[in-house]
Amino acid sequence: EAISERPGIGSRILVFVRLRPMAKKEKEAGSRCCVRIVNRRDLYLTEFATENDYLRLKRLRGRHFAFDASFPDSATQQEVYSTTTAELVEAVLQGRNGSVFCYGATGAGKTYTMLGTVENPGVMVLAIKDLFTKIRQRSCDGNHVVHLSYLEVYNETVRDLLAPGRPLVLREDKQGIVAAGLTQYRAYSTDEVMALLQQGNLNRTTEPTRVNETSSRSHAILQVVVEYKIKDASMNIINRVGKLSLIDLAGSERALATDQRTLRSLEGANINRSLLALSSCINALVEGKKHIPYRNSKLTQLLKDSLGGACNTVMIANISPSNLSFGETQNTLHWADRAK
Ligand code: ADP
Ligand code: MG
Repeated sequence: EAISERPGIGSRILVFVRLRPMAKKEKEAGSRCCVRIVNRRDLYLTEFATENDYLRLKRLRGRHFAFDASFPDSATQQEVYSTTTAELVEAVLQGRNGSVFCYGATGAGKTYTMLGTVENPGVMVLAIKDLFTKIRQRSCDGNHVVHLSYLEVYNETVRDLLAPGRPLVLREDKQGIVAAGLTQYRAYSTDEVMALLQQGNLNRTTEPTRVNETSSRSHAILQVVVEYKIKDASMNIINRVGKLSLIDLAGSERALATDQRTLRSLEGANINRSLLALSSCINALVEGKKHIPYRNSKLTQLLKDSLGGACNTVMIANISPSNLSFGETQNTLHWADRAK
C-alpha cells in the first residue's frame, strides 16, 4: 500500500540526470565539458579552466554522483521517455497517479526534454502517444476517456495555458484540489497534441524585459487524466481514474540566487515559492515524514494527489556540459542527489 504511510520508510523517487549537448554559443565562448558520464549510473563533475587542469582532474575524476540513470548528450528523446516515464503511463492505465518533473537552470534543457520539437517530440508528447497506443491495444470497446489540462504557475498565480485569461482559483472538492474553470481538453489522438502544447507554451508568461522568451520563473504543468470503467468480481461497473502530471519547472537558478536571503524577503517577492515548497515536500517524502507541507505553494497544492503515497514520482535533472555553467550544474546535481 501507500509507502509513505509506513513510518520510517520514505517514498521512493526515481532521479535521473540528462546532459544536453554543448551549444554553439558555448563552444564559441571556448567552454569545455565539465561533466563525464562513465556508465548508465555514474556521473562525474569536474571543474577546470585550462587543458592542464582538465588532464589533472581527469585523473582525479572529480565529484562522483550516482543516479537511477544518467543520460549522455547522445541520448534520444525516446530513450529518455522509455526509461523515465513509460512505467508511469502503464500505472495511470491501472488507475494510479504519477508525476514527472524537469528540474534545472534556465537553458539546461527542461523544455526540450518535456515538450521537445516537432522533429524530436519530448516526454509530454511521447507519453500521450504511448498512452493511446496502450489504450488501443487493451480495449476494443473504446471505453477510455482522455482529458488534457495545461496550466502555468507564475508568481503564485495559476493560469490556463489552453485558454489564457484571468487567473484560476484553486478550490478543494471531493477529488482534491482543483483549479476552477480549467480547460479539460478531450483528446482522441496524438496528432493534435503537439500543436496544442506548443500553442500552450507560447501562452506562458514572459518577463517584461525578455518579451520573446518564456519566463524562467514559470512552471508549466500538463495533466493527463484517463478515465475508464471496469467490472469488479460481482460484475458491478466501477469508474477508475489515473492522472499523470508532467511538469516543466521554473529555472532553478533564481531559487539558488535567493537562497541566501532571508525567508521573509523571499516570501515578499514570491520568487520561486513553488520551487522551494516542492523541494520541502520532496525532502519530507524521501525522509518518510508524516506531515508533507503541500499547502505552502500553488504548485504543491496542485500536485498533492500526484506526489508521494502510492504515486510514482520521477525527477529529471537537466544539466549543461559547459564549465561556464559549473556552479548551476553543481547545485542541480546536489539538489537531485538529495531527492534520492
Ligand atoms: P530550459 O527549458 O531548461 O531553459 P531548453 O530546453 O530551452 O532549456 O534548452 C536550451 C537550448 O538547448 C534550446 O535551444 C534547446 O533546443 C537546446 N537543447 C536542450 N537539450 C537538448 C538536447 N538534448 N539535444 C539538443 N538540443 C537541446
Ligand atoms: Mg524552458
